[in-house]
Amino acid sequence: MPDLHQRIASFRGNVFPRQAALYRRLAQDGQQPQALMISCADSRVMPETITQSGPGELFVCRNAGNIVPPFSNMNGGVSSAIEYAVMALKVHDIIVCGHSECGAMKGLCCPHLIEEMPNVQAWLRHSHAARSVATQLYANELDQDDMICAVTLENVLVQLDHLRTHPSVAAGLAAGEINLHGWFFDIKTGGVLVYDGAKERFVEPEADAPLPVAVTGRSRACMPVALTSAMAAE
Ligand SMILES: [Zn+2]
Repeated sequence: MPDLHQRIASFRGNVFPRQAALYRRLAQDGQQPQALMISCADSRVMPETITQSGPGELFVCRNAGNIVPPFSNMNGGVSSAIEYAVMALKVHDIIVCGHSECGAMKGLCCPHLIEEMPNVQAWLRHSHAARSVATQLYANELDQDDMICAVTLENVLVQLDHLRTHPSVAAGLAAGEINLHGWFFDIKTGGVLVYDGAKERFVEPEADAPLPVAVTGRSRACMPVALTSAMAAE
């Protein structure tokens, strides 16, 4: 491991001075990130680097497998990060980013790899639906590596579904204040695939076109007009 002492000294002495005014402003005014990114803890996947974000621009939550547990009464780090990002920081975009060569997804597909890791096993239960869907769709067509890739992509969609169970996200989507994004980062090429909710598939983003969105927030009201009129008349 390189000398961490040297690295933090280098940051303090060489990097920080060039951005000192920005850090001072962020310390004084607080953060206003536009997006929450939920990515894998894998050391090869660097959210700020992939999105070329600077200090204060991206609120990041990382864990093994870029997983979002469904909302429940049990407290958790991911749930708290989501709630804080949406309610306190008012982020407009939430990104779930999977990636190639993901150890968590390999463990999900090959359980013997994680049989000595009870916490990882339990955590990956939040991704079982992805494995079931991929098995149902591709079991007879794909070799193991491609199957792991398929599970990784399906896992992004499953975690987007879980996101919608969180009250703060559900309310933000209904108010049209939040969009959800599903990404896949390829470590070998540096490319990012994005899920296009309208086309229902992952696509390569086009340089001059708006970035496709997985789930678009829309301001809406589900009560029938007749019912709201009747209530107003009472
Ligand atoms: Zn991973």
